Amino acid sequence: MRKLVLLGPPGSGKGTQAVKICEEFGIPHISTGQMLREGHLADPELDREMKSIMARGELIPDYLMNEMVKERLRKSDCINGFVLDGFPRTIDQAKFLEENVGVDYAILLDTPEELIEERICGRRVCTVCGGSYHVSILTTNVCPKCGGELGTRADDTPETIRKRFDIYQCLTFPLIEYYTKLSKLVDIDGSGSFEEVTKRVINVMRSLK
Ligand code: AMP
Repeated sequence: MRKLVLLGPPGSGKGTQAVKICEEFGIPHISTGQMLREGHLADPELDREMKSIMARGELIPDYLMNEMVKERLRKSDCINGFVLDGFPRTIDQAKFLEENVGVDYAILLDTPEELIEERICGRRVCTVCGGSYHVSILTTNVCPKCGGELGTRADDTPETIRKRFDIYQCLTFPLIEYYTKLSKLVDIDGSGSFEEVTKRVINVMRSLK
């Protein structure tokens, strides 16, 4: 059983590494940002309101996120574990997760700030399947997985990126201490290429029970 949470600032490569961990261990990748972008909130008006919060780089209220994640984790594909990417983002969300599901490890991608900026500026996402890539690995403007058109994320503007960082520092950074106290934090050096980080993550994951 592997119930995992990925932690790290915006642009630390959580999405990319989550895909690799999920391939290795055969567990689902649950990205709350992607779920919101796909419109998992049933009410269209609520969905519109939430998309405008996201475009401003702010956080969706905890109660909505908690319910969305709780429902997703009830699905049968989570029976052997999961990788949560983008959740929890606040102490309240983390407490909710511990009380309702519990996780085995919180993996922190400890990434230098210069690298983060470069990664976010080079990020391209598929407008069809939501796949996320760095320009350095792309040869055309189409998605390598589904052939869909690639674009930039609505919240990857310089102003919004700044806000997302500030929110990370204030609300999400304290999760490192929270999971450390629970002896669940696994700190991984997030510097170097995506492939180097993947090797580190997979090696560490294989060594954990
Ligand atoms: P991400 O794709 O993880 O960078 O998330 C994109 C945006 O979705 C965030 O900036 C938030 O507006 C929203 N979001 C995703 N996950 C959460 C969460 N756990 N709590 C609140 N808002 C979230």
